[in-house]
Amino acid sequence: MAPSRSPFPGLTTDERARAAYSEGAGIHRIVPAGVALPRGVEELQALVRWAADTSTPLVPRGSGSGMPGGAVGRGVVVDLSSGFHWLAPDWSHRAVWVGASVTAAQIGDAARPFGLRLAPDPSSAAFATSGGLTATNAAGPRSVRCGSVRAWVDAVEIVEADGTARRVTRGEGKGERFVLSPDQRKLVQARFPHTRKNSSGYALDRYVESGDELDLLIGAEGTLALVTAVRWRLEPIPPDVAGAALGFASLEALGHAVPFLIALNPSAVELLDRTFLELVGGDGLDLPAGLEGLLLVEFERDTRAAARGVVGDAVRGLKASTAHVATAVDRGGLERLWSVRKLASPALARLPPSRRSLQVVEDGCVPLERLAEYIAGVRTAAGRCGVPVALFGHAGDGHVHVNALPDTTIPGWREALAGLFTAVTELLVTLGGTPSGEHGDGRLRAGLLERFYGPEVMSLFRDVKRAYDPGLILNPGVILPSPEWAPLVDLKVGADVAPIPDDIAARLREIERTAGWATPKLELARSSSP
Ligand SMILES: Cc1cc2nc3c(=O)[nH]c(=O)nc-3n(C[C@H](O)[C@H](O)[C@H](O)COP(=O)(O)OP(=O)(O)OC[C@H]3O[C@@H](n4cnc5c(N)ncnc54)[C@H](O)[C@@H]3O)c2cc1C
Repeated sequence: MAPSRSPFPGLTTDERARAAYSEGAGIHRIVPAGVALPRGVEELQALVRWAADTSTPLVPRGSGSGMPGGAVGRGVVVDLSSGFHWLAPDWSHRAVWVGASVTAAQIGDAARPFGLRLAPDPSSAAFATSGGLTATNAAGPRSVRCGSVRAWVDAVEIVEADGTARRVTRGEGKGERFVLSPDQRKLVQARFPHTRKNSSGYALDRYVESGDELDLLIGAEGTLALVTAVRWRLEPIPPDVAGAALGFASLEALGHAVPFLIALNPSAVELLDRTFLELVGGDGLDLPAGLEGLLLVEFERDTRAAARGVVGDAVRGLKASTAHVATAVDRGGLERLWSVRKLASPALARLPPSRRSLQVVEDGCVPLERLAEYIAGVRTAAGRCGVPVALFGHAGDGHVHVNALPDTTIPGWREALAGLFTAVTELLVTLGGTPSGEHGDGRLRAGLLERFYGPEVMSLFRDVKRAYDPGLILNPGVILPSPEWAPLVDLKVGADVAPIPDDIAARLREIERTAGWATPKLELARSSSP
């Protein structure tokens, strides 16, 4: 499907440029047919109209840090990470309009002097774009209190599949394009998972509640429209913070502690599982032996006394079940206490080159009361399949990230990984979970959704897609599986990996290792030195 003619100078089919966009974070390598870097809405509209005329699939992309392969594909990759870089603050109303290219960190930097911040705090803030964050319904540790980005996006500007540009504002854009009957609304309410977070499928449950078209567009992963601007609602930065690290000798005790902590209104309840502590070298961490997991808890309050007081309540309330307690009474102390989380990247970098961190079951989320069962089940499945794993995540939301760490020089590693993918999927279905708490489905999970939602809801998902993109040009194969969907194909590792120039492969690997996703990808195409 090579483009027949350039609709504007920003489209290239150069081999090195295509190679530079063949990978994102996550497991995939797919060389696209072309790459386009539109500078502004009009150029994007021209590109989309050309794509509609020529039936060329478009793959919207921000910084490419998304995990499940939504930002890579065989069509034309549309890089929106640089051409939409503007910021229009409305601090007095605690809001800001930004172009799709603006990252979460750039919003934070602009808002901080005014005592404001973006409430969700993704770890990828330094590079994740406003378009990508909105398209995946991203989240962060603080989402335990503030929810996913859905709750903080007031409005978006989009370019639709026919090239039309328009604004969709919460409370104004009633979804007339896609209407659900009373029976279909009941079906949605019955079939959607009852998890605290969900970035899988189209958010029909939220759409049923709000009737707001915005709820269909947030989390749509570039399959319904291209987002060109986002109006973010901001929150005041709370004056004080305190927290604790709480260690547990059994998963059962950890599982019971989480709802207790949630009742105290924390701003974060993060999990570092035994497998994670082992990976980062638990011995050097000054923790007692035999911990099954550590919870890092943060409380933000209006006064220092209130923040310290609630930490005391947490520690006292869990005295009988904790095997380790350390507290912090200010921001600096908390950062020191939490620094253990930052040890994951150096530990992963220390792994031998043959051992790869592959994100295939990295985003499962279960009802809070099933958290301990889920952690135990993932560990068991990993042991059975012979794939080492390191688990961490957002315990307060029942949401666990899994780093699968197979040795890719051992014959059968791919089958073992596929076994883990299947086993964890079964586990999530059994526990009433969702395969994605914040990363989205991408290409990786598209073929699993029927297991979670059933055929009737899948049919509604297809109706949504038809209502917005009847020509199937916007990110086909994402959320709704392509006919040839298979688990774990188009991997960036293995004997049958798609060939690209060695120097570009090395630079992409380096970006992955250092989380250098903000790097303009065309730089990789220009330079030929590794
Ligand atoms: C080290 C690391 C840490 C991470 N931490 C977190 C975390 O804490 N929380 C979290 O939620 N995620 C996290 N992620 C995942 C990732 O950063 C998020 O999914 C982020 O929202 C992706 O933004 P992006 O700009 O990189 O989008 P991309 O990866 O480029 O795209 C992601 C999806 O959005 C679509 N898309 C992108 N831009 C647009 C647009 N303008 N219009 C329409 N569709 C678009 C793409 O088609 C794709 O389907 C992490 C990733 C890494 C590598």
